Amino acid sequence: MTTRPDAVADRATTCFQHAYGQAPTGRWAAPGRVNLIGEHTDYNDGFVLPFALPLRTVIAAGPEPTGSWTVCSELTGETVSFGDDEVARPGQVTGWAAYVAGVVWALRAAGHQVPGVRLAVASDVPLGAGLSSSAALEAAVLAALVDLGGLELPPDQQPRLAQHAENHYVGAPTGIMDQSAVIRCRGGHALFLDCRTEHVEHIPFDLAGAGLAILVIDSRAPHRHADGEYAARRASCEKAAALLGVPALRDVPAVRLDETLARLPDGETRRRVRHVVTEDQRVLDTVALLRSGQVRQIGPLLTASHASMRDDFAITVPEVDTAVEAALAAGALGARMTGGGFGGCVLALVEADQSDHVSAAVTTAYTARSFTPPTVTLATPAPGATRLD
Ligand code: ADP
Ligand code: MG
Repeated sequence: MTTRPDAVADRATTCFQHAYGQAPTGRWAAPGRVNLIGEHTDYNDGFVLPFALPLRTVIAAGPEPTGSWTVCSELTGETVSFGDDEVARPGQVTGWAAYVAGVVWALRAAGHQVPGVRLAVASDVPLGAGLSSSAALEAAVLAALVDLGGLELPPDQQPRLAQHAENHYVGAPTGIMDQSAVIRCRGGHALFLDCRTEHVEHIPFDLAGAGLAILVIDSRAPHRHADGEYAARRASCEKAAALLGVPALRDVPAVRLDETLARLPDGETRRRVRHVVTEDQRVLDTVALLRSGQVRQIGPLLTASHASMRDDFAITVPEVDTAVEAALAAGALGARMTGGGFGGCVLALVEADQSDHVSAAVTTAYTARSFTPPTVTLATPAPGATRLD
């Protein structure tokens, strides 16, 4: 993965100057993220362990004297303007600019006086690849508005507000993980998030110090029915929790899993519950290993997570299974699909000097199956949203 953080910031400035004929007041950046482990645990009130990527979305911003909001995206080449009417209620601004209007709407709904601004967006975070370009965009816009408006909104309250924008203005039913990760992550650490309490803990994750690297492999798989399948998994988990008489599957103790599963009516529901309960436990086990500096030892937990997603939760597709199998066969210490499933990215934990070898092996396996070639990038745990200048 080549990252050119300065280049993307320069592109945001160029985009701003081109659209508005002047220099921006400042620039704000927010990263993409990848989830190290803990899949489909968030809406079950469980645990996740994301870290921020060196890929970033940068917002260049300056005041808009009319008090309205205008945003241009280098990516779409479009400029979209909206005023008080459009941010009075959801549904008025649609498409990509809804992520921006949604943040303005959510801030106003929370009682903030939001200044009019001109914005320009440039990004290195691939869209729709499961690396959370949506949260990166929301977080960068939020950081700019908070600073330019002098708003009182501490970082620990920002993820909830950005999530509110995405859930209710954009209309995407996401959990709190993405916004928490892109806002609160620290360089060299993963973010251990309890999705029930929103308590976070920064867990040291020193890959380079351990001589390791993480490959993020974009499976390039077309998303097949991802929304419907996501809703079905969620409904299945909620139904199972109700049948078991617990508020959420997080409340099923891993040590009593077998007797709990025996109380469920069918094999499919049992498999869904087993994934969530064992996945929560794998997050806790991963955190325990990282806390004691045993980075290399998390590999088998990553691979077990993948098997659970493939066999019990049934959310993998041939492309991601192929990438995981090829990475492991080439010597990866662990590999798993990351994200909601049905495509997206695979991450592989490898010895640092094996990165090229494992990457080439995955590409070869893809070629053999005539899949669209994967893109492979190197991930190091990066900081969350910040002002650049
Ligand atoms: P992910 O968050 O996994 O990348 P989503 O579907 O949640 O995928 O969000 C992607 C959407 O976010 C894009 O389709 C687009 O509407 C919006 N978006 C993200 N980054 C940008 C950007 N730099 N410019 C314009 N729109 C963006
Ligand atoms: Mg998203």
